[in-house]
Amino acid sequence: MSIDAQPTASHFINGQYVEDPSGAEIPVVFAATGKRIATVHAGTPDVVDQALAAAKAAQAEWVAWSPRDRGRVLTRAAQIIRDRNEELSQLETLDTGKPIQETRVADATSAADALEYFGGLAAGLTGEHIPLGEDWVYTVREPLGVCVGIGAWNYPTQIACWKAAPALACGNAMVFKPSETTPLCALKIAEILIEAGLPKGVFNVVQGMGETGAQLVTDPRVNKVSLTGSVPTGKKVYAAAAAEMKHVTMELGGKSPMIVFEDADIENAVGGAILGNFYSTGQICSNGTRVFVHRAIKEKFLTRLAERTAQAVIGDPRDDATSIGPMVSEAQMNIVLGYLDKGREDGARLVCGGERLDRDGFYIAPTVFADVTDDMTIAQEEIFGPVMAVLDFDDEDDVIARANATPYGLSAGVFTRDLSRAHRVIGRLQAGSCFINSYNDAPVEAPFGGVKMSGVGRENSKAALDHYSQMKSVYVRMGDVEAPF
Ligand code: NAD
Repeated sequence: MSIDAQPTASHFINGQYVEDPSGAEIPVVFAATGKRIATVHAGTPDVVDQALAAAKAAQAEWVAWSPRDRGRVLTRAAQIIRDRNEELSQLETLDTGKPIQETRVADATSAADALEYFGGLAAGLTGEHIPLGEDWVYTVREPLGVCVGIGAWNYPTQIACWKAAPALACGNAMVFKPSETTPLCALKIAEILIEAGLPKGVFNVVQGMGETGAQLVTDPRVNKVSLTGSVPTGKKVYAAAAAEMKHVTMELGGKSPMIVFEDADIENAVGGAILGNFYSTGQICSNGTRVFVHRAIKEKFLTRLAERTAQAVIGDPRDDATSIGPMVSEAQMNIVLGYLDKGREDGARLVCGGERLDRDGFYIAPTVFADVTDDMTIAQEEIFGPVMAVLDFDDEDDVIARANATPYGLSAGVFTRDLSRAHRVIGRLQAGSCFINSYNDAPVEAPFGGVKMSGVGRENSKAALDHYSQMKSVYVRMGDVEAPF
């Protein structure tokens, strides 16, 4: 795999690549080898200023386009992304270390879905006519202005487009700051949007660490911030945005429950648990990392889980056969190794995995702990790695209470053949994105986001449009104004 597709400079501002070597060096490390494959520079205050100035100016032009024409640019970009899926998937694999068999179907394709979906909706963004007898009110859906997107490292292409597509469809401009761990992919999206006809400056990319993000969030030119990241970062960004009453979308962490009842199809439930814990080497916010399994089927479930997990092909993510790649970075690997120690110390039973693999790169074997109890650290904290905690339960009410006993509320899943029970239980679970007899599907048509500490607002679906636009209402009086004096 070559890196011919690699972006040519650190930032993308006002329609072109921009380099400023005075910004701090950010190494880009390929997680499968531990070797540096690229270097970008953090945006200096001057670079951030250029990006925001470009966005501000371009938004005034973009909002004057007809929504249909705006939508056409997005759908054209979607087509270019699909045409270049292989090249973009390879770059995603280099940026994140995720297996090519995943990135070919889950990253650029998901980005294209978002651009296509919101491109299609753009022309349908209308207001209402509200009759009041002789008088009437009409509403207008207006963009917010300049939006800032800040990304996590697990899905760099998808996150950039899940934010940019609805923002741009509504007539906003965006400055996107990728995670410093995976800075490359968003630059290609910026390039492709220009090729598709987007006016310069409507979508810009600036690299940097948290402080660059903080500079963007607090700038008075910015009207909205959409963050995908951890809860501690979310609290800081939300507070900074609140100080100036800026709109926010917060897509944060989780410790989601997956509940497997005694009548579940075991193979499907095991498949759901594998997808919900080991896909992307476990680095997915909505993962069902607390797998509650009814005691009556527990051993059968664990046996099949161990057998199927043994079939995982752990290897170089560039190989077609590889189904488990490395952790994104050495730092993340060390965090996860700490949780493996914690699980053992707390007395959980190791069913499989539990260790770093003896090879180059940041590999951790897919790990299952059984006999996990609610008080254990691995049942309470987000690990963000391939570590599944299996907990026992006997009773429906009890398992619902335990599933909800977390500050998080991103996702939840239920496996059962009893459909009444499925809907009853899902109805009582405190989570934003739920699954029945499935796990972790995220089609662009469905709202995605969390409750409680897992976030504010929704991405994807028509709901996202509400988070990138605001309503103006206009009262129209047809007769005379009756004033008291
Ligand atoms: P992180 O919170 O460390 O960083 C996220 C982004 O915020 C990065 O781009 C970082 O540079 C930036 N940032 C850090 N401090 C900032 C500040 N003070 N102001 C502005 N920006 C700042 O998260 P991460 O380690 O990159 O990603 C992992 C986390 O993201 C996990 O908790 C995971 O659950 C969450 N996540 C959530 C979703 C979702 O959609 N809900 C998706 C993926 C990841």
